[in-house]
Amino acid sequence: MTQTTPPALSLEFFPPRDIAAQERLVRAAKQLLAMQPKYVSVTFGAGGSTREGTADTVRTLSNLGCDAAPHLSCIGATRDQLREILARYRAEGIKRVVALRGDLPSGMGGDAGELRYASDLVRFIREETGDWFHIEVAAYPEMHPQAVSPTVDLDHFVTKVQAGANAAITQYFFNADAYFDFVDRARARGVTVPIVPGIMPITNYSQLSRFSEMCGAELPRWIRLRLAEFGDDKASIRAFGAEVVTELCQTLLDNGAPGLHFYTLNQGDATLSIWKNLDL
Ligand code: FAD
Repeated sequence: MTQTTPPALSLEFFPPRDIAAQERLVRAAKQLLAMQPKYVSVTFGAGGSTREGTADTVRTLSNLGCDAAPHLSCIGATRDQLREILARYRAEGIKRVVALRGDLPSGMGGDAGELRYASDLVRFIREETGDWFHIEVAAYPEMHPQAVSPTVDLDHFVTKVQAGANAAITQYFFNADAYFDFVDRARARGVTVPIVPGIMPITNYSQLSRFSEMCGAELPRWIRLRLAEFGDDKASIRAFGAEVVTELCQTLLDNGAPGLHFYTLNQGDATLSIWKNLDL
């Protein structure tokens, strides 16, 4: 299948921790505006640890002219807290959220909050705010690391969409077949919403290994070996990474992916070079 409409591009940022990081974020965001993203999103630390950071960063990005969507996780939160935050976003004119369960940070004990899963959060948002928000949810082509099986994980994904999600963004992956297989299985179960692949640019081997370990995304052996061989040669890692990820994006778009969601890690160059290579 070839792409008939231009792919919808979106960019993910995280709340900066200090002034210097804030400046880097703004620089990267300005650089990436060249891509004309449909929207940008801002991550949310589970347990509310960056709740203000998320809201502030959404404001910063909105002021740059972006349609900015906060991520919102339900773990560790009460219904009242979620209600209040949704009301605040609504009052600020925010129309899009990424709804997640989140993960409990270590040290939070067993206080998992009043809603258990992302599907409960999606249902809650719909009950509280009707159709005000466009809701994105997470999808896992290579299975969520805590799921008992791919089929059971898909069941939960279907429930989450049926609860009222408008679209899904996937965890990152480097094997396009995992994405197409997931989309096919979701479509066979009646899911019609767009499922946008999440794209992780490759810039740093040890960081990527750590992330992949945590979130259950497979870093294929051949990529791992090539990256390990480059050692501290950052330029070669970036060049190889840009080539591998560009090829992945091209395959995804050529075969019908509705868009690309880039995990920018608050850096402009890597995402921008992939976008330029794609020549959209
Ligand atoms: P869910 O959809 O609730 O699924 C979590 C697990 O529970 C899965 O294994 C699922 O199979 C299972 N499950 C679901 N429903 C049921 C049920 N009824 N019974 C039994 N099991 C069930 N984390 C953050 O903290 N902040 C962020 O900003 C953030 N942004 C993200 C953005 C994207 C695009 C993605 C892909 C992930 C993001 N995450 C973020 C990580 C996410 O919070 C974790 O992966 C988390 O472990 C699961 O969240 P979820 O919304 O997918 O949960």
